[in-house]
Amino acid sequence: MTERSDILIVGGGLVGTSLALALDAVGREVALVEAAPPRTSTATGDDNDRNLVLAHASVNALKALGVWPQLEAAAGTIRRVEVSRAGEFGRVRMSADEVGVEALGRVVPGRVLAAALEQRLAVCKHVRRLVPAKLEKLQPVDASLPPSLPGGLGGEAARSAERAALGEVAKAGWCARVATADDAYDIEARLVVGADGSDSLVRAQVGIAAMEHDYAQSLFVCTVACERDIQDCAFERFTDDGPVALLPLPNQRRGLVLTVAADRHAEVAAMDDAAFIALAQQRFGWKLGRLSRPGRRFPHRIRRVLADALTAPRAVLVGNAAQTVHPIGAQGFNLGLRDALTLAELIAKDDDPGAPDLLQAYAARRQPDRTGVLAFSHGLISLACLAQSALSPLRSLAMLALDAAPPLRRVVAKHGMGFRGTPPAAALDAGP
Ligand SMILES: Cc1cc2nc3c(=O)[nH]c(=O)nc-3n(C[C@H](O)[C@H](O)[C@H](O)COP(=O)(O)OP(=O)(O)OC[C@H]3O[C@@H](n4cnc5c(N)ncnc54)[C@H](O)[C@@H]3O)c2cc1C
Repeated sequence: MTERSDILIVGGGLVGTSLALALDAVGREVALVEAAPPRTSTATGDDNDRNLVLAHASVNALKALGVWPQLEAAAGTIRRVEVSRAGEFGRVRMSADEVGVEALGRVVPGRVLAAALEQRLAVCKHVRRLVPAKLEKLQPVDASLPPSLPGGLGGEAARSAERAALGEVAKAGWCARVATADDAYDIEARLVVGADGSDSLVRAQVGIAAMEHDYAQSLFVCTVACERDIQDCAFERFTDDGPVALLPLPNQRRGLVLTVAADRHAEVAAMDDAAFIALAQQRFGWKLGRLSRPGRRFPHRIRRVLADALTAPRAVLVGNAAQTVHPIGAQGFNLGLRDALTLAELIAKDDDPGAPDLLQAYAARRQPDRTGVLAFSHGLISLACLAQSALSPLRSLAMLALDAAPPLRRVVAKHGMGFRGTPPAAALDAGP
């Protein structure tokens, strides 16, 4: 059975779903294939595998996608950020006031965001979903496909005749073999989008290599209560054993992100709540008083995966499939969302979603943002994790210098808010 769709998105995670919503909004036909069953909205802040810091640009984008109203009540607000290092005197502080915005960013439980995107997807008119369904392989389609493919079924014999009539044209699209629990489909598309995460099958099948780096670290995520409330401030503290962050959430809860060396993963995973909180307290210090009442704890192994290229003929990568960055910089989804919205913006202006010029324009537009974020995230973690060394006084001085230099701080804050290179229009502040 062969189906056709103008655009095939493989992967309905946060980024693939956002892309589907953006394409639906401009009336483009999309097939979305996702291996996992649909997410439900039963998540609470205490049963949540990650709390996502949304940059200011991402909040704008989620408003444009119509998702923000479902998120706002569950979102914490970041008006100030304080970055410090245990045992050193430098610290960097940034505030929304000094950049002239109401908030530097917001914090939302990951599952609440997923459920809100899911809810919005359910009312899309142009998105055909195959869930749960798994991409098994991709093969190039060598004949021209008709320009508009409204998802109808066509027999293989009819397709062959059509190909013969049109003449063979290299890489007119891709044919995806997709399996559901009790069926298998072939879907032909003029553009295939790999939104299928760090171990992207799309990336491998279209011939894009990737570089991996193992940080030899694990993250533990949970919510906690803090004795002292310093409102709307996000804290990030670097220690010799890795960074620890406390992010503001509603109802006086905070999202804790604790990094440990990978060889301590099993030991920390096995700790009871009291031992875990004692470790977090020792690592973070007493700035927010006593930490208590930890929610369910979620472990994550950390690595960086970097695709050698963002595009191949009639194929493009977005989100973690394109680049998986260390979570401590809180950039992965923010960057992926800008991938998705930039791609949707370019597709909206072109009849052929897989046209070589369009893909080239996408790669060129994403370059400065991608390179900047990768350098920031990797540099941050490398610098932060340097154990006490002859260089540490310099690091303290660098932090002090940044803290004392408002113009430089404003540049860092602007980049952190997601405004680097040419951001997608949907991520920009709305005019008066
Ligand atoms: C602890 C932690 C904290 C983080 N904090 C932040 C933060 O504060 N801010 C931020 O911006 N980012 C943060 N991130 C990063 C962010 O979560 C990711 O960058 C983002 O979720 C990636 O989304 P994605 O859709 O690209 O990939 P994924 O979420 O990996 O989604 C890929 C989807 O593709 C599907 N799939 C895979 N293979 C197939 C196949 N063959 N067929 C069909 N479907 C397939 C999968 O089921 C999955 O649903 C954090 C990450 C972690 C681990």
